[in-house]
Amino acid sequence: ALPNSTAARDVAYLLHPYTNARAHERDGPIVIAKGEGIHLWDDAGNKYIEAMSGLWSVGLGFSEKRLVEAAYKQLQILPYSHTFTHKAHEPSVELAEMLVKMTPDGLDRVHFTNSGSEANDTVVKMVWFYNNAIGRPEKKKFISRLNGYHGITIASGSLTGLPANHRGFDLPLPQMKHVTTPHHYRFAEEGETEEEFSTRLAEELEAKILEEGPETVAAFIGEPVIGAGGVLVPPAGYWPKVQAVCRKYDVLVVADEVINGFGRTGKMFACETYDIQPDVLVLSKQITSSYQPLAAIVFSDKIYQGIADGSEALGTFGHGFTTSGHPVATAVGVENIKIIQERDLVSNAAKVGDVMRGELAKYADHPLVGEVRGVGLIAACELVADKATKAKFDPVGKVGMSVFKAGHEHGVILRATGDSVCFCPPLITTEEQAVDIVARFGKALEDVRKALGR
Ligand code: PLP
Repeated sequence: ALPNSTAARDVAYLLHPYTNARAHERDGPIVIAKGEGIHLWDDAGNKYIEAMSGLWSVGLGFSEKRLVEAAYKQLQILPYSHTFTHKAHEPSVELAEMLVKMTPDGLDRVHFTNSGSEANDTVVKMVWFYNNAIGRPEKKKFISRLNGYHGITIASGSLTGLPANHRGFDLPLPQMKHVTTPHHYRFAEEGETEEEFSTRLAEELEAKILEEGPETVAAFIGEPVIGAGGVLVPPAGYWPKVQAVCRKYDVLVVADEVINGFGRTGKMFACETYDIQPDVLVLSKQITSSYQPLAAIVFSDKIYQGIADGSEALGTFGHGFTTSGHPVATAVGVENIKIIQERDLVSNAAKVGDVMRGELAKYADHPLVGEVRGVGLIAACELVADKATKAKFDPVGKVGMSVFKAGHEHGVILRATGDSVCFCPPLITTEEQAVDIVARFGKALEDVRKALGR
């Protein structure tokens, strides 16, 4: 890279998230220069389809002028105000009202944070404060799933069930427990149907709650469809069975829809897709199409009342960020949701998702493909060394990464989580573009197959 280029200065000054620093020093970055629609360009002028919506988040694509205008307008009226100590402003109230009205019944209150990780950390603190307030201070444990992703701060990173987020950080916290990943292809027993697998996982959850003591288990948290863990669609019957166990032991159900929310699964919320009635719903990413950092926790009146009573008994709910409910971020959120609704992008995601998954299904017989899975406009293709035994490639991750890199050569940005190649294009993607994305993936896959000599 040229001495004063973005790439050279990037290597000189930055520590990147989720990046092997030494490898980055050697290889340098891909510098993204501009975006339009579902496309990105790097600083060498190469054009890519962003088939991952950035980090599963840019629902409206990279050039939605109405979001720019909403931000600009709010920046001129009131660029900043806070929501501590009784202060309020219209954009955060408008977005909260919208969210309460559009989310499933029983979710009546909203609390804003800046990111999904902060939201999940905040959920933990809210639930702890709530249980302290209602006189059951021992009920503090959270149960989540292996391969689930809930963020990277101390509590949310503990909820995350991926070793990479614990290793080197002394996590998880002792209050956080994990149960089996709801992925039939990988974790079902020989001959077990999806329903039987779901029943077994619900029994496992019940056994875990009993082992820990129901009086110590506060909440169960899961992504309706696991995203960063490799787009793992739940087996049939999973959520109703798991939810019934939670209700039996007075364990709160937290649906982390940071990726799933706002149409991704073909319904506005994945809780509708999978018949979940959560006590807490966590939203971020597509809430603003990530034009502004924002997350929302939408939760039940029961929890609100406990916290409100607790604020009198224990003292103020002492939690919040300088930028909680930021006026510009929430104004962009309002406009973003209006656009999703006006253009019926949820139906578009369902329709285009059917096309995308239909095209991907054609690769089920490919020698490297173990499983093709997905719902709505989110999908993954898991690559295996041996289709019959489902044996993984050794070392895991290199083949997925090879397809990811070959994708760049064919002008498409995908994502590899281990050896699962993920697809999560913007909600505005057309049927033709979906076909194009899968065709480019197919070329990348063929390149890797040939390189492996198979
Ligand atoms: N929850 C889920 C389901 C996520 O996918 C993510 C991020 O990918 C998070 C939480 C954390 O969000 P953030 O990266 O904004 O902290």
